[in-house]
Amino acid sequence: MRYFFTTLWIALIPCAWAQYFEPPPINPDPSSEVSVRPVPAPQPAGGKSEQPAPNDPAAVTELPDNSSPVPREKTRVAVLGYHNFSDTKPVSEMLMRTSEFRQQMEYIHKAGLRVISMKEFLDWRLGNLQLPPRCVLITLDDGWRSVYTDAFPILKEYGYPFTLFLYTKYLSGRGDSMTPEMVREMQAHGATIGSHSTSHLYPRFWKRAQAAGDKAYNDLMDVEMGGSFKRLGELFGPINTYCYPGGYVTPQMIERLPGYGFVAAFTVIPGKVDCTEDVFQVHRYMVFGTDSSIFHHAVDFRQLSSAAGGDRKNAGAPSPVPPFPVYPLPNSVAPSDISLISAQLSGMTNVEPNSIQMQVSGFGRVPAKVDSSTLSVQWSPPLRIYLPRLTVRLSWKTTDGSSHSAEWFFYVESEPQIQSS
Ligand SMILES: [Zn+2]
Repeated sequence: MRYFFTTLWIALIPCAWAQYFEPPPINPDPSSEVSVRPVPAPQPAGGKSEQPAPNDPAAVTELPDNSSPVPREKTRVAVLGYHNFSDTKPVSEMLMRTSEFRQQMEYIHKAGLRVISMKEFLDWRLGNLQLPPRCVLITLDDGWRSVYTDAFPILKEYGYPFTLFLYTKYLSGRGDSMTPEMVREMQAHGATIGSHSTSHLYPRFWKRAQAAGDKAYNDLMDVEMGGSFKRLGELFGPINTYCYPGGYVTPQMIERLPGYGFVAAFTVIPGKVDCTEDVFQVHRYMVFGTDSSIFHHAVDFRQLSSAAGGDRKNAGAPSPVPPFPVYPLPNSVAPSDISLISAQLSGMTNVEPNSIQMQVSGFGRVPAKVDSSTLSVQWSPPLRIYLPRLTVRLSWKTTDGSSHSAEWFFYVESEPQIQSS
């Protein structure tokens, strides 16, 4: 339970915040509810833009061979999470340009990353299967029809296996949802089905049940977790993985999931997965339609040997863990040319967006960008970082005027070189 305390507090979602808690509406109008930002200019695969992607496939070719299996502890998996696609509707965190999705799949292909199925992932994590060093697991949440119309043809073209985390109330085929028939067709072409609960509840419903006592809470888990396990099994055959809706996870959920038959559960906390990762709190990068940098962080495997443990385990006192998602993760190891430091305060109550400030050791107060609708805070260091460790401190005020702060630290690779394992 390495990340127990992180996720205990993480009712708190590093992605499409308010609306992420919401089940997808039957007739969603993305322009009415979500913050719409310009589509980022696509990164050419050759990395010829002024600001090259953090890892371009050319750089990846310098990494060791990725075609053969290695001992289990040497493999890292980037789990990608997607939602909805369109080439015409306004993009949002939840909705990506189909053309950008294609570029990302092409990038994975060119970079020589191995896209693995959920079965391979579980056989590696829970069994003895050996995989290549750099793997990607593709997951798509909720059951948007565009997964079938837009993403599926691309995934099929590349021959990539993928996992659909479905919530059973959103399988009607009405509005923008997909039908069970669409799901079955995708199952015949590489899709694994996992549960995303029965009704994709807001955290407040979970909290209300929890406040009402153990019986109410257990009953709700029986319906949302056990019920979806059963129903999805009836519709599509046995399932064994769960994905926390909105990333909302509590210790009671983790404790109860195995009893329903689940063997693994996925969060929305970014980070590479190693073979010691808590299998009921698997890290996952939610790839936003508005920010391609998340994808590039996810498929950047250069920092791996250290991120999995090595250095940080011998590095003294552990970092504090803020009660909200942050990137890079506390205690993790980031490359010296790290392009993004971020935090997500949407799960905190009554935050005044204009009051949020970020301080970074060695840089002082930095001009972090705050998205007032999602309460995401981001700063891109303008320079390569030569400090061995960076401490990030966030401070903010709440609407009652009181001041709050939280901090964490992460390590920085001493050499900006390609790691060899
Ligand atoms: Zn969802």
